[in-house]
Amino acid sequence: MPSIQAKCRIFPADFELTLPRLAAYRPDHLLAALPLLLAGLAVARMESLSEFFQSLFNVLPTLLLLLGGAFCVVYGRQRELSLLVVVYLTYFLLDTQTDHYRAHGHVRADAALVFHLCSLLLPLLYGLYGAWRERSHLLQDMVARAAVLLAVGGTFLALARRFPEGLQGWLAEVHWPLWHGQWMNLIQLAYPLFLIAGVLLLVQYLRQPRPLHAAQFLGLLGLLWMLPNTFILPHALQVMSSLVMLMLVAAVVHEAYQMAYRDELTGLPGRRALNDRLERLGRNYVIAMADVDHFKKFNDTHGHDVGDQVLKLVASRLRRVGGGGKAYRYGGEEFTLVFPGKSIDECRAHLEAVRDAVEHYPLQLRDKQQRPRSDKEGRQRRRASGAASVSVTISIGVAEREAHQRGADEVLRSADKALYAAKRAGRNCVVAQGENRRGAVRVKAAVE
Ligand code: GH3
Ligand code: MG
Ligand code: MG
Repeated sequence: MPSIQAKCRIFPADFELTLPRLAAYRPDHLLAALPLLLAGLAVARMESLSEFFQSLFNVLPTLLLLLGGAFCVVYGRQRELSLLVVVYLTYFLLDTQTDHYRAHGHVRADAALVFHLCSLLLPLLYGLYGAWRERSHLLQDMVARAAVLLAVGGTFLALARRFPEGLQGWLAEVHWPLWHGQWMNLIQLAYPLFLIAGVLLLVQYLRQPRPLHAAQFLGLLGLLWMLPNTFILPHALQVMSSLVMLMLVAAVVHEAYQMAYRDELTGLPGRRALNDRLERLGRNYVIAMADVDHFKKFNDTHGHDVGDQVLKLVASRLRRVGGGGKAYRYGGEEFTLVFPGKSIDECRAHLEAVRDAVEHYPLQLRDKQQRPRSDKEGRQRRRASGAASVSVTISIGVAEREAHQRGADEVLRSADKALYAAKRAGRNCVVAQGENRRGAVRVKAAVE
């Protein structure tokens, strides 16, 4: 009898697992963007910057456009490239104006028009490009983005040349007097655009939480702060546009790192990260291998998608292991836990706790076709039929480094052997290296 039990026979494609959204919003999404935004706000408020920082922020936007842009082109990140271009163009147009203001003590004749146009087009294009996903054909995507930029930019440029006063009047006009607030330092039209862009980017982050979406949203907030301060604070423009561009580039790099080191399905660090960690372990450590019991059967019965959800669940429990342990996805339905500086005796209770948490997690399968209209109805149905509850168990083999063992590979192999012993002992248990499996192992009669 399998240790994963389905109390009803079901067809894979018709069912899905009801699980809470597992660790979807992670604080590390904000790791790069939030500190940069706060640093930008702090530095941009300074009245004077040292010569070094002044020279740095003079070249940083161009440097970021070139380096970040090249990176984006090489790796097909068109969306970030178009955002960098939009921020850079705004920076370039306004920097010309602030330079003139600083050099001559008064603004250029077209300053108001350029500034109002930037206030209108920046949120429009930033929101549009931020929410516009890359299409599968990258060249087409790039051409389409460039065409939009040229069409929008070209139209307003032509209008500005032909009817400068008319356009400026239209931009500066208060279109909705009822909605006008004294606090509005930009043209009124800019605020609904910032609002729409903000909502779009926030919804995008909530639907798909990832570092880039967080950076895009926070970047928009930075730009909203920057515009009204462009002519008021001497470094607002250079500092904030540099840091928004840096946020975008940092998010791209962060995601590239995650792709290499994190397992996409479970969010745990992957095999590459494990290999790195194994090379840096000291003299004493413990390695545990965990494997989902009868997972092939589970996949065959409930479908691969439900199997994937189960792996996410197991990963979420393993991630919370105590005792200073860290979980990695080794591959497939196998996970590795590493406890630096620990002995088996110190880890055992923590491993048992994880095994127990997986076993007792209440998994419910629901019928996709006959989805209940409300949570209450769903609960009633489940109670009435008791039909679609399943249980998942894991087996764990654990080994500690012994004096004669040279590398972590050997300890890992010992843990793997112990895992086989745990499987032979009936699964759903923790077995240590060299342990007498019949004596020391706790076999769960209930699941057999
Ligand atoms: P045991 O209790 O002995 O471990 O039996 P088992 O069925 O779990 O072991 P086996 O190694 O034969 O099966 C592992 C299965 O895990 C095979 C494969 O279909 C499934 N699997 C591996 N990776 C994934 C994945 O990413 N998603 C899903 N859904 N299934 C996976
Ligand atoms: Mg396996
Ligand atoms: Mg297995």
